[in-house]
Amino acid sequence: MSLIETRAAVGPLHRHISLRPEGQALPDVASMVKTLRPEEPLHCIRPGVIARAAQAFVRDFNGDVLYAVKCNPEPAVLRAVWEGGVRHFDCASISEVTLVRRLFPGAQIHFMHPVKSRAAIREAWIMNGVRDFVLDSASELQKIREEIATPDALRLNAQPGLFIRLALPETGAAINLSKKFGADFETAVALLRAARPVAGKLGVAFHVGSQCMDPLAWRDAMSLAGEAIRAAGVRVDVIDVGGGFPVAYPDMDPPPLGAFMAGIDAAFDRLEMPHIKLWAEPGRALVAGGGSVVVQVQLRKGDMLYINDGVYGALGDAGALSFRFPVRLLRRGQTLGAPDAAFSFFGPSCDSLDVMNGPFILPDDVAEGDWIEIGQLGAYGTCLRTAFNGFDRAMLVEVSDRAMLETAGYEAMDQLATI
Ligand SMILES: *Cc1c(COP(=O)(O)O)cnc(C)c1O
Repeated sequence: MSLIETRAAVGPLHRHISLRPEGQALPDVASMVKTLRPEEPLHCIRPGVIARAAQAFVRDFNGDVLYAVKCNPEPAVLRAVWEGGVRHFDCASISEVTLVRRLFPGAQIHFMHPVKSRAAIREAWIMNGVRDFVLDSASELQKIREEIATPDALRLNAQPGLFIRLALPETGAAINLSKKFGADFETAVALLRAARPVAGKLGVAFHVGSQCMDPLAWRDAMSLAGEAIRAAGVRVDVIDVGGGFPVAYPDMDPPPLGAFMAGIDAAFDRLEMPHIKLWAEPGRALVAGGGSVVVQVQLRKGDMLYINDGVYGALGDAGALSFRFPVRLLRRGQTLGAPDAAFSFFGPSCDSLDVMNGPFILPDDVAEGDWIEIGQLGAYGTCLRTAFNGFDRAMLVEVSDRAMLETAGYEAMDQLATI
């Protein structure tokens, strides 16, 4: 007899440490490192930073704000996003849908992946109250129509919200999201016409790409969406401007969020379609500053530091995408501030691709046993961890520190903390 087991590829981080007596302030990173002396990566979540970023986005965006759950689905992060006033969630898998539904029975969940399994559509529709689905092909439209027309599904007597994902020409984003998804202009027009008669709510969605530094990308996308709507000649209820809103990294200093919001508002006004509602699906912009990982130096060879987390852990974007992240040294006792020097990191696995070139700027006397806090990892950090090579242990704490780097105008935290 064979045994069929299902288990998640990556379990949640197991040990959730709260050293906080009820009602008291969260500890800071330095004191956690001092207490725990962690020899495994220590994932630090800053709920206050996330809640403030969410609050600012909700305040400044002229429509509904959907948090893109894939960016960081950690329950503590979701709770902080909720705390900041976000009530809509952009989910891409049934696991994300059920996680959000379990945490927030009152949340509005939107299934915004253009290619879904039939089982996921059914379960979302029947069990989780999901009504909105994105699509970029006639086959997906057909699939959704079939799955919400089963006897069980029909009993709900609801109409779907259907969103046509429009592909965009190349933008200035760090990560392009229009190669894999999105209907070309003619297909989008045809899909709008085909979906209108069966949709309770009809939308156009796009994504300019992640970490998009140029507000004009949204202007161009908005006007393309407007052209598609006019060409289709049907009533459209929502334009979903997607995610992609950038945050600061050591070598990227994006314009403030207000510049993006102003650009979107102006482009929307030019469409002269005032009955249309706007949605946005930010991920990175809400949570990047709210996460960091404290790693320990296991060996130093010249300017190469062998650390206990890497590209198969939370630092994937520091590898293939060559992202630079802010760093600071955490070390015991008094230090004479050595001059800064540039380092690259090697992760713990045996794979020679497990390398992060940086450069990461740290005091020149960094040594084995020191800890390094790597910041701006709240987005696409912890959630990318794998169990490769057995390096899957980690701890998670919630802390009170401010972000290590914020958008223009803020200073980085001190580069050296004594613990
Ligand atoms: C990833 C993703 C987002 C979030 O993108 P960010 O760049 O993190 O803001 C939003 N919508 C969709 C459909 C996505 O795939």
